[in-house]
Amino acid sequence: MTDMLSRADEIRTRIRDVPAGTWVKCPSCRAGAHRDRLARHQNTCPECGHHYPLNAAERIELLVDEGTFDEVDAGLRPLDPLGFVDSKPYPARVADAVRKTGRQDAARWGTATILGHPVVLCVLDFAFMGGSMGAVVGEKVSRAAEHAKVTSTPLIVCSASGGARMQEGVFSLLQMAKTSAALRRLSDAGIPYVSVLCDPVYGGVSASFASLGDIIVAERGARAGFAGPTVIEQTIRQKLPRASRPPSSSWRTATSTPSWAAPSCACRWPASSAGTPPAPRLLSTATRRLSTTRR
Ligand SMILES: [Zn+2]
Repeated sequence: MTDMLSRADEIRTRIRDVPAGTWVKCPSCRAGAHRDRLARHQNTCPECGHHYPLNAAERIELLVDEGTFDEVDAGLRPLDPLGFVDSKPYPARVADAVRKTGRQDAARWGTATILGHPVVLCVLDFAFMGGSMGAVVGEKVSRAAEHAKVTSTPLIVCSASGGARMQEGVFSLLQMAKTSAALRRLSDAGIPYVSVLCDPVYGGVSASFASLGDIIVAERGARAGFAGPTVIEQTIRQKLPRASRPPSSSWRTATSTPSWAAPSCACRWPASSAGTPPAPRLLSTATRRLSTTRR
């Protein structure tokens, strides 16, 4: 009996000593998973394949050959042309996001290789103000497209965004036209552009560069469209009928008509997989094929 009690005490102590956040409960299948195990599965649920969010650094690390990402314009910072204040001034909101993410804005772009193939890569980070598109994001996407055109290198943009950044008003809306024009010039030059839809892609981002890919790849379960159910409900001040809400990941990806609704491991793959990881294979094959056919 004494042994049992001391054993119970030992178990209680061990449970208490586990740092918070070590175990994660999957929002899809409710299975628990240790953070280390999730990391080995590239932040996908080992049981059901649910995709946890990735920040820009994790996504870059996942997609490109190790150590090849050469970031450009990392220091570009947003201005406050409207002197915008909602519940707090826009500069204070930006400063919070900078503190939280260690980045100056919601996009990173640079050059890299995928399985040895040179690419220009731009990745939006949802952790920075919901990946919203202000002047900096628009400028980085445009500069990435221009660099891809000048160097005849395929462009890949991974989008995860709530849409245009309302704190920059019309300046954020102008980014839709600017990025679209840059991508048109890229298209006219015959350089392929692959758009990867990560979760979620809404508003001005989905209505501009995210939808303009020669090939659009949607990560499994990614919500994509112009407005999500919550925004629609807030706008019309009515609860949407259950039938109009996304019942499954396939419905969600189908809304943006991607070229591929990528299977569970096409955008991320288990570290234990043998052979070539599917994501670089998928993207490099696509870009190589387009490079060959369009020139
Ligand atoms: Zn799961």
